[in-house]
Amino acid sequence: MSSEQPPKRPARVVKRAAASALPASVAPAAPHVASALAASSPWAYAPAPESRELALIRPRYGLFIDGQERAPASGEVVITYNPATEEPLAEVAKGGVEDADRAVGAAERAHRKVWSRLAPRERAKYLYRISRILQERSREFAVTETLDSGKPIRESRDVDVPLAAAHFWYYAGWADKLQYAVPGRRPESHGVVGQVIPWNFPLLMLAWKIAPALAAGNTVVLKPASTTPLTALLFADVCRQAELPPGVVNIITGPGEMGMAIATDPRVAKVAFTGSTSVGIKIAQGIAGQGKALTLELGGKAANIVFEDAAFDQAVEGVINGIFFNQGEVCCAGSRLLVQESIAEDFIARLKDRMSTLRVGDPMDKNTDVGAINSPAQMETIGELVSSGVAEGANIWQPECVLPDRGWFYKPTLFTNVAQSHRIAREEIFGPVLSTITFRTVDEAIEKANNTAYGLSAGIWTEKGSQILQVAAQLKAGVVWANTFNRFDPTSPFGGYKESGYGREGGLQGLHAYLRSS
Ligand code: NDP
Repeated sequence: MSSEQPPKRPARVVKRAAASALPASVAPAAPHVASALAASSPWAYAPAPESRELALIRPRYGLFIDGQERAPASGEVVITYNPATEEPLAEVAKGGVEDADRAVGAAERAHRKVWSRLAPRERAKYLYRISRILQERSREFAVTETLDSGKPIRESRDVDVPLAAAHFWYYAGWADKLQYAVPGRRPESHGVVGQVIPWNFPLLMLAWKIAPALAAGNTVVLKPASTTPLTALLFADVCRQAELPPGVVNIITGPGEMGMAIATDPRVAKVAFTGSTSVGIKIAQGIAGQGKALTLELGGKAANIVFEDAAFDQAVEGVINGIFFNQGEVCCAGSRLLVQESIAEDFIARLKDRMSTLRVGDPMDKNTDVGAINSPAQMETIGELVSSGVAEGANIWQPECVLPDRGWFYKPTLFTNVAQSHRIAREEIFGPVLSTITFRTVDEAIEKANNTAYGLSAGIWTEKGSQILQVAAQLKAGVVWANTFNRFDPTSPFGGYKESGYGREGGLQGLHAYLRSS
């Protein structure tokens, strides 16, 4: 394979300009709210770095097709970078249409000759084996994920990897019980499924897609995002280790056009996509009329609603977790805080105090709360939307915190005085930016929460169970959390309304998406 130039990236000065475009207008943390745990305090935590050596990242990776590593037809590679240091991590094959064709061919053969003929309980054994291997190699996966994506090691170690293993475990249990998933009907696999996944939860999104697909008897061609291919390629190694029959899982790296080539291939019977609404629309248009099954998990602009009777400290923690988990690069992030007017002032003060204690920096440090933004492109998106918030008249606040000299980092950001018409209240920022809107009555809260083109998730904070039920029933969101946020479980379905997409992943509903039943 011949090496190509690294993708053009904005110079460091440009990236940092995006992060600090607004310092003159940003109100610094008031000294009286800055907490004793702030980085400058003598109580600040000592560094606790995870070992980089746990990840055995190779200098170059090919495509995983038919159980083997292959060079891409183009002979070209792209480089994947560590967002926290801007250092190149590895060269990764740049697949194209021809490679997609080969991968779909391998998956089609594997489905026809092997996987569809295998006894369901035998399929289950492979899924259990994959789950076990993921658990055994969990530290290697966590470190690789953090190096490639910029997310804090605490999250990849405690959330992404365990949940990925849990998905394979859960769906392994379904593999030989499919007749109970569709009682009275005959469950059948679709055949070959094409899956395109994003960069915010690379391994977890892979697990959400591959585990139910295999349990239902399908074979897979999966394309990871170009900025986060490494855990998917490490997963290819897990497939080999588990002795999965060749062609059952194919993982090919390459640009968006290759994703479209997978989706539109006539041999692909079902498509699953997670990513931006704009690409989701293109995929839906691209496959229109082909009779394929399609699930789309797209963007979100979730309302996290805090009523005046909410347990105050828990609600503050829930709002912090809702927006700063994974740097806010989460489709279901609680990016709109709806707080009742009677408690708004106190709540915002407490929120600022808590934000002052967030440790932003090295994702490999076990104390880090907010890691690096995945790419310069995402930094620019965040910077542009934050600038629009200031220009449209919202008040911006950021805690005093020193960002690392290298890498793509963005300060936790709070907007108050936000109008529903502002772009920061309507558009998905996909960064550590919270937009606050106040309300007076329950009806007003519901109306404002639903005033969005999206409908993926929402949160409710109140002491009253009846209020939870009343409000949840009226929220147009696929997932509604009550007195918690960002909780995931393989048994729970996840998905959206409106521009957040359609179809569900996870749970029994997520299995249905991979079955045809007659
Ligand atoms: P994209 O939707 O472009 O990327 C998601 C996946 O789709 C990637 O694997 C990407 O490949 C692939 N892709 C891109 N173009 C096509 C295409 N034409 N046909 C098929 N597949 C394609 O997201 P971005 O990375 O551009 O992020 C932009 C915004 O999208 C973010 O700011 C955020 O708002 C939102 N987003 C939402 C996510 C969610 O979980 N709902 C996840 C990621 C982003 P490649 O990486 O090679 O371009």
